[in-house]
Amino acid sequence: MQITFHGAARTVTGSQHLVEVNGIKILLDCGLFQGSRNETFTRNKELPFDASEIDVMVLSHAHIDHCGNIPNLVKSGFRGDIVCTYATRDLCAIMLRDSAKIQEYDVEYLNRKRRKRGEEMLEPIYSQEDALESMKYFLGIAYERERKIAPGVWLTFYDAGHILGSAIVVLDIEDESGKKAKRLVFSGDVGRPNRPILRDPTIIDNTDILIIESTYGNRDHKHDAISDAELRDAINSTASRNGKLIVPAFAVGRTQELVYRIHRLIEAQEIPNHIPIYVDSPLAINATDVYRLHPEGYDEELFQFMLNVRGNDPFGFDRMTYTRSVEQSKSLNFIDGSAVIISASGMAESGRILHHLKNNIEDPRNTILIVGWTAYHTLGRRIADRHPEVKIFGEPYKLRAQVKTINGFSAHADRSELLDWISGFNKPPQQTYIVHGDEEVSLDFAETLRKRNLPDVHVPHLHQSFKA
Ligand SMILES: [Zn+2]
Ligand SMILES: [Zn+2]
Repeated sequence: MQITFHGAARTVTGSQHLVEVNGIKILLDCGLFQGSRNETFTRNKELPFDASEIDVMVLSHAHIDHCGNIPNLVKSGFRGDIVCTYATRDLCAIMLRDSAKIQEYDVEYLNRKRRKRGEEMLEPIYSQEDALESMKYFLGIAYERERKIAPGVWLTFYDAGHILGSAIVVLDIEDESGKKAKRLVFSGDVGRPNRPILRDPTIIDNTDILIIESTYGNRDHKHDAISDAELRDAINSTASRNGKLIVPAFAVGRTQELVYRIHRLIEAQEIPNHIPIYVDSPLAINATDVYRLHPEGYDEELFQFMLNVRGNDPFGFDRMTYTRSVEQSKSLNFIDGSAVIISASGMAESGRILHHLKNNIEDPRNTILIVGWTAYHTLGRRIADRHPEVKIFGEPYKLRAQVKTINGFSAHADRSELLDWISGFNKPPQQTYIVHGDEEVSLDFAETLRKRNLPDVHVPHLHQSFKA
């Protein structure tokens, strides 16, 4: 067997790992590499392998850094099955189309510059049409239902507890060359225990080969319970000033978690039930519909909540409004009194959140609540860092609103949680490959694992191959 790491190698994004065994090529994930426009364009457009030679693809979950290049894979000649969980398939149906819109927008931006320089115009990496076309190749299977995907290769998905539908990929392989059975476990992105909505990451008790993510391989998060108290305090203190709480949030995963947490706080009477709550993002609304469709991904606590609460809808309640149309969105500017407005994008770089920030950032009664990681040079980061003045749509605005950051929301296991998950193996894997982390973080995590007596630990370079 040979494994080649074509992405998320010494970096977080672009997850693509090629497994070759028994004359078959299996691609684990086909994610987009995310970085500056110029750097990412060529790298994502030109696949590092012949797509028509891939026999089958296995997808861990619906985040763009794992699924985002699938339309390009199909456009480039792939004709096999894309095997994933049902919820991942449904989330991809909305995520890939949204990603195509971003590709089309990005290429327009690049082309404006190229036109000025008299250079040739570029085509987007893929179009919305390509995204829709690629959906024909998806094949949903349930968690913990073993399925043969190629001669001598059996696949089982286990819940990774990261986002709805996320899976740990287990391949049981009868390697004809070595005449022996081997197990390969690809962690995908590992979630965290004791999180709302989702089950804990499944403990896998044995493997020969491990490919594991390392996003937070060198640090620990704050404890989860703090987040609920912080959220409660942010809502209550803003309401006491008669202000608005503006929350930039990722449309898939984070928004649904916020809505459910707010619903729990209302049921527990920890926040007043007269404050209107709005989710103002078409993508988040579509994603919430997918969340509603897939109770097979919920944890026991959410089941109980659904059974005990009026209306049975964890993502909907009396004061909760989803605003889909532009008119509804604009009408939020004229609300009198306190309100909570959750909108995308999470880093406040695009989307309807920009209008809400523009309209509310200069009023000290309001609070801007940052609930996720923000990259450098994004508006979200500048607000989190409390720059006294920020630009929105090119215009300067004074940052007079309160700013609060809650860090406990991460959907990724931290260092201790990753180590706990690994300690579930009843003997150490013979080979371990560390992916999906910034280079120094992955190297750090590799050292940690070597100290814990894992025998053969690698941090692959981009396109590096290993015999396994
Ligand atoms: Zn992810
Ligand atoms: Zn990821």
